[in-house]
Amino acid sequence: MDNLATTTPASAVGSRIETLDTRLLIGGHRRGGSTGRTIAVENPATGVPLCEVADATADDAMAALDAAAAAQDTWAATPPRVRGEILRRAFELVTARAEELATIITLEMGKSLEESRGEVAYGADYLRWFSEEAVRIFGEWKVNAAGDARVLTMRQPVGPCLLITPWNAPLAMPARKIGPAIAAGCTMILKPAAQTPLTALFLAEVLAEAGLPENVLSILPTSDADALTSPLLADPRIRKVSFTGSTGVGRMLVEKSAANVLRTSMELGGNAAFIVCADADVDAAVDGAMVAKMRNNGEACIAANRFLVHADIAEEFSAKLAARMSALPMGNGLAAGVKVGPLIDAAQRDKVAGLVADATGQGARVVLGGTAPDGAGYFFPPTVITDVPASARLNTEEIFGPVAPIRVFTDDAEAIRLANDTEFGLATYLYTRDIGRAVTLSEQLQTGMVGLNRGLVSDPAAPFGGVKQSGLGREGGSTGIDEYLETKYVALAV
Ligand code: NAP
Repeated sequence: MDNLATTTPASAVGSRIETLDTRLLIGGHRRGGSTGRTIAVENPATGVPLCEVADATADDAMAALDAAAAAQDTWAATPPRVRGEILRRAFELVTARAEELATIITLEMGKSLEESRGEVAYGADYLRWFSEEAVRIFGEWKVNAAGDARVLTMRQPVGPCLLITPWNAPLAMPARKIGPAIAAGCTMILKPAAQTPLTALFLAEVLAEAGLPENVLSILPTSDADALTSPLLADPRIRKVSFTGSTGVGRMLVEKSAANVLRTSMELGGNAAFIVCADADVDAAVDGAMVAKMRNNGEACIAANRFLVHADIAEEFSAKLAARMSALPMGNGLAAGVKVGPLIDAAQRDKVAGLVADATGQGARVVLGGTAPDGAGYFFPPTVITDVPASARLNTEEIFGPVAPIRVFTDDAEAIRLANDTEFGLATYLYTRDIGRAVTLSEQLQTGMVGLNRGLVSDPAAPFGGVKQSGLGREGGSTGIDEYLETKYVALAV
């Protein structure tokens, strides 16, 4: 590995973290947590702490909920144009400060600066998308079937929301929830991941500057997610929880949400198959595979987790993918030219190493990479593995790292059977030049999203979400705002 940590422009980087307000945001005010405790935020490239942020407690959560509940009616009555223009200004401010934000993302999450810049553009686009959606919340008027009444519907905000986000996209995941909540007129409490709270705290500064009223948004990093969120979920003033994270935690949040029958949006784990049919353009498939596998270092819910390649082209595909992945420089994500940063922490690196060891122990062949380097930081190199047996854990567990396991198939039915053989159903990638096969297989895949001859499905204009145990609801697209709206119907006598 190139250990490029020493080339980091430390002064330029440190200054933005030093000026960031790392206190909680509760009802428009910055303050420390009720116990005065703090959480250390670490740089995964070095293992060295970057700074401390305030650690929120259940008392802080209740103060935030008081603020959110008090502001709900006024915020809901704020003209949609005003809400939309706050989001538009936030989009412009995030775009103007892209470099600062990207640097903070790389520092706390590890991915390369190039990846972080991509996330800033992607996250900002959700703010822009929902600035446009805020003024397009429609009801309807129609004659009932009997003709003796009129059916009127209106859309109203669901009310105060609890938003819980993971560490792998510290800007885009909050933006994908805050954007529609603001557009719909909901107040909210955001609990960012404990490992990556800095980006969310920066976003709070931006939203305040964009004109978001006090009390609409509170931000509560915490070292005890359960203690913070349980009383919120038990309080009838919270009307919705939107969660992005692992299926295990999502399942538990759905159970807790049952007590007050909360609206839930669940963006959970994935196990994406990447299918390359015999008729595919192999070079295009390799291009797509590089995006689907290596975006975010593979730490993405939609990352290609299982490559299923037709036996006729498997050797060519594996060799070309390994050649492309071997050319990616690994190191501190802030250093020029680096494409592969560290994983989030030692546990994640060890998990990835364990999955690789499990497969090789059962006869899989490592074509590239496969071993974590010694030294500081939580690095794992780009890895390609072939001859992966059906019993390998790589087939069933989310890797969340830069490892591409390849299996072969011989006909479409086998490809579909293997692709659907998972409890998850978030994204699937499909490469074929046969339009009939593309349609038939897309219809047969048990998945929320299909990347058809494309390694990227994320798009603010598209409904992002999964089926089976990958989740409930959709974020983005023209349905994304629905998650934050109730439909009220008025029966009108005539
Ligand atoms: P995670 O452990 O489930 O954590 C996600 C969030 O939930 C964090 O803010 C975490 O807080 C919080 N949390 C953990 N335990 C909780 C509890 N008992 N009560 C309330 N909140 C709790 O997931 P992760 O490891 O951060 O993220 C990786 C997972 O997210 C993967 O499975 C990935 O597929 C999924 N993901 C899905 C999507 C999607 O759109 N479908 C997008 C991105 C990621 P702490 O940080 O304090 O633990």
